[in-house]
Amino acid sequence: MQNMSKINKRERFFTVGGITKNVTNPDPRSRAWVEVDPKVIEKNSRVLKDFIGEDCLLMAVVKADGYGHGAETVAKAALIGGADSLGVATLEEGIQLRNAGFKCQILILGNLINREEFYTALCWALIPTISGIREAIICNNIAEKNHKKFIVHLKVDTGMTRLGCHCHEAEELISKIDYLENISLKGIYSHLAIADSDQVKNNCKSFTQMQLNRFEKVLNDLGKRNKSLCRHLANSAGTLSDSRLHFDMVRVGLSLYGYFPVNEFGSDLKLKPALKVKARVTLVRDVDKGIGVGYGHFFKTQRKSKLAVVAIGYADGVSRVLSGKISASIDGVLIPQVGAIAMDQMVFDITDKPDIKIGHVLTLLGTDGDVMISPQKWSDLSGSIPWEVLCSFRNRLPRVIT
Ligand SMILES: *Cc1c(COP(=O)(O)O)cnc(C)c1O
Repeated sequence: MQNMSKINKRERFFTVGGITKNVTNPDPRSRAWVEVDPKVIEKNSRVLKDFIGEDCLLMAVVKADGYGHGAETVAKAALIGGADSLGVATLEEGIQLRNAGFKCQILILGNLINREEFYTALCWALIPTISGIREAIICNNIAEKNHKKFIVHLKVDTGMTRLGCHCHEAEELISKIDYLENISLKGIYSHLAIADSDQVKNNCKSFTQMQLNRFEKVLNDLGKRNKSLCRHLANSAGTLSDSRLHFDMVRVGLSLYGYFPVNEFGSDLKLKPALKVKARVTLVRDVDKGIGVGYGHFFKTQRKSKLAVVAIGYADGVSRVLSGKISASIDGVLIPQVGAIAMDQMVFDITDKPDIKIGHVLTLLGTDGDVMISPQKWSDLSGSIPWEVLCSFRNRLPRVIT
């Protein structure tokens, strides 16, 4: 008898049999989500392609799952808009795109480490970046064994101090690579370190100018050989700031997604943000003056207030550092977030917009009517950069393609 009642208690708590059968999955828009408009990416790609002109190729950088937009969605839209190739950071990102059916050139911007990785890159026809003779020899051996030619790009370090061979080594290195029969060196490139904070146009002694000079010297020293290579140097900031940085190809990330790394450069271009972060109000409550809100009671109401609880938190990608600093938009009206941002929830003060109800949708990031809340705004408030803000929406939020 006693046994029986124990089982019943357990069953009352745990049994879900029969209930789940006829229930459909929740709408991805039920709690909080990221909205991406591929048409906007396509248009940005076209705008950038027109801007760089027909003599220059456009590489769409879709690393980190397309800066949080979805790599496949972005890649497809960018190619339709006129991009010529794709850039990824890792082998896995390249394979994902090949698996999704992308046939264009894909350059791996990061460094591969060992034979297995280079072999995998060869199998998937991904182009590795090499920085020295070690990688060149590995590639040559692997290609020889597999009776193939390994297409690679060589990176030269002009001042980023990350990947790439020293500038003064480049010429000798290339002459050695040219002896390796199973390598086909198709590109040479470098990466700008401070183009987003440096003013190339107004200051000829700028660091970016020096990187340009170094890159040009490497190319000059190669003589005729350099003409047969795809030469590339510019990221978004470089692309928008100075056409002398374009060479044969530019590698754009941030601007493809609709943002300007430097306010002054390219702002006349019609680039538009493709991403929005939205969340629903899950509860509305009235509280008295002087009431502490959320963990730590960092915020206390200064008046009788109306508060809206919204189901998005730092686990979704809204940094806790932004607590009490951001606003969200509804009907083009900004309402302030108050108290600590928690893992899954945050609170907004809607005292001045009391018509907000359960189920209403707030726009935390992106355009809503005339209001535009940019990742730049968030990164200014949190001491980060827009790139990192965009990359943070990859954990839990469903992505809705509009
Ligand atoms: C990420 C990356 C880019 C794109 O930079 P944006 O500033 O987002 O345009 C270009 N080149 C390399 C090597 C990169 O790693």
